[in-house]
Amino acid sequence: MSLSTSSANRKPVFVLVGGTGDLALRMLWPSLAMLDQDGFLDKDLRIISVAREAVDRPAFLERVSSAVQKRIGADLEATTLDQFLPRLSHIALDASDPQWGAKLKAELGEPDALEVVYFLSVSPSLFKPICEHLESAGLSKSPNRVIIEKPLGRDLASSKVINDSVAHAFDEARTFRIDHYLGKETVQNLLALRFANTVFEPLWNAQSIDHVQVSVSETVGTGDRLGYYDDYGALRDMVQNHLLQLVCLLAMEPPSNFNADALRDEKVKVLRSLKPITADNVRDVTARGQYGPGFAEGKQVAGYEAEKGSPSNTETYVAIKAEIANWRWAGTPFYLRTGKTLPSRTTEVVIQFRPVPHSIFGSAAQPNRLVIRLQPDEDIKLTVMNKAPGLSADGMQLQPLDLSLSLSNAFDGNGDKPPRRRIAYERLILDALNGNNAAFVRRDEVEAAWAWVDGISAAWAEAYPKPQIYPAGTNGPMSAYMLLDRDHRVWND
Ligand code: NAP
Repeated sequence: MSLSTSSANRKPVFVLVGGTGDLALRMLWPSLAMLDQDGFLDKDLRIISVAREAVDRPAFLERVSSAVQKRIGADLEATTLDQFLPRLSHIALDASDPQWGAKLKAELGEPDALEVVYFLSVSPSLFKPICEHLESAGLSKSPNRVIIEKPLGRDLASSKVINDSVAHAFDEARTFRIDHYLGKETVQNLLALRFANTVFEPLWNAQSIDHVQVSVSETVGTGDRLGYYDDYGALRDMVQNHLLQLVCLLAMEPPSNFNADALRDEKVKVLRSLKPITADNVRDVTARGQYGPGFAEGKQVAGYEAEKGSPSNTETYVAIKAEIANWRWAGTPFYLRTGKTLPSRTTEVVIQFRPVPHSIFGSAAQPNRLVIRLQPDEDIKLTVMNKAPGLSADGMQLQPLDLSLSLSNAFDGNGDKPPRRRIAYERLILDALNGNNAAFVRRDEVEAAWAWVDGISAAWAEAYPKPQIYPAGTNGPMSAYMLLDRDHRVWND
C-alpha cells in the first residue's frame, strides 16, 4: 500500500492529530512540505490537522507556512508552499468529545474510499480515546495506519497499557512507532556500512572490537519539560529508546533480507541478550548524575533541584556498561552515556578496535577506531595508522589518519552544493505513507527494552537511590569516568 504514489482506487489522506503543537510546527509540517517539494506526495493527498483550538483556514495556513519557512530557510523553493498549502485543512475537535470519530468521519468522507495515515502528535494519554473513536467510527480498518511516538509508557507495565489500547484499533503491521533516530541518514547508513560491505563484517565481533561507546550529550537542561522529565529521568527518556536502538543496529546479526520483520527479529534478539543489571552490580556498571549549579550554554544554571523547587532523585545523566550475552559480543562491553547541561551537543558512536596483536612500532601503533557521528554533523570516520610523511632521524614515525566517509562530501548532489540535511521525520513519514515499517519499532522491541531498563530502575531504587551531583556545564559525574577507569578505558571526549 502506498499513499506517496497513487494507490489503487482509495484516496490518500494524512491526518495530523495535534497539528498545532510544538512537534508538528517544528518538525512535521516542514517534513511534509519538503516531501511535497521533492515530489514524494501523491497529487491527491489531503492533509487534515486536528486539535481543540479553532483556527480559521487562512490563519492556520499562515501558521504552517511560517513554521515551514522558519525551519527550512533557503532550501524552500518558491513554488513549494503554493503546491503544499492547498492540500491542508484544520478541524477543531476535542479527543474527550464522544462525537470525535463521527465528526472526523464527516470531514474525511466515505471510509471505504480512503487510505488514511493518522499521526498522533499528542500526549500518549490521548492515544486510547483517539483509537477508540477511530475504531467506533470505522476509521481504523485496514489499510489505514497509525503513527505514534515516545513516551510509550514509563515502564513495561504502562507501555503494555498504551500498546494494548492502540492494538485494539490497529494491528501490529499497521502500527508505526517512531524513534526519530532511526530516520537519521547516518543511522540508516549504519545498515549499509555493515551489510553492504565485506570489509567490516569479519571484524565486527568481540575478537576484533575492544569496546563500543554510544554517547548522546545535550547542552540544554530540562527547561519547560521539567514536569514531564522529573517522572522519567535520563534512563527512561533516552536510554530505553534512542540509545538502545543504536545498540541494536550496531550489534544485530545480519538479517536474511531487508524486510521489516527480518530486521526487527534481529534487533529484538539483541535487546533480549542484554545482561540484566541487578542491585548486586548496579553501582559497578552504572553511573547516575544530576546537574547542580553551574554554567551551561553561556548562562548561569541554578541546578535541577533549584529549578524544580523541591528535592528530587531524578537522574539527568546516566552511564551504563551494557553487556550482550551472545557469541559475537561476549567480552566486548557497550558503554552508553547521556546527559543534560554538558559542554557540547553531540551524538556519537565509537567502535574501538583491539590493538595489533604484536606491535613492531611499540606503543606508537594506536588501535583503529571507527567514529560515527550523528550530531552536530553527520559523519563517519575510520582512524588508521599511517607513516608520517617525510624523513626522521629517529626512524619511521607513525601518525593516525582519519579516513572520512562524510555523507555531505561523498554525495555532493549537483557538484557545487551539498545535499540538504533532511529532517529525520521526512524519511519516517514517507515510509509510513508507503506502508514500510522497517525503520519503525515493533512492540516486542519496545517491551524488551523496557524489561531491561526496568531492571536498572529497580536496582537503583534498592542500591543506588541518589544521583551524584555534577556542576552544570561539565562532563557529568565522576562516577561515569570511574566506570570506564575500572576497565582501564577512557571516554572519547
Ligand atoms: P504540544 O505542543 O503540547 O502539542 C499537543 C497538540 O495536541 C496540540 O496541537 C494540542 O492542540 C493537541 N491536543 C492537546 N489536547 C488535545 C485534545 N484533548 N484533543 C485534541 N487535540 C489535543 O506537544 P508536542 O510537543 O507537540 O508533543 C506531542 C507529542 O509528541 C507528545 O506526546 C510528546 O511527548 C511527543 N514528542 C514531542 C517532541 C517535541 O520535540 N515536541 C519530541 C518527541 C516526542 P490543542 O491544545 O489546541 O488541543
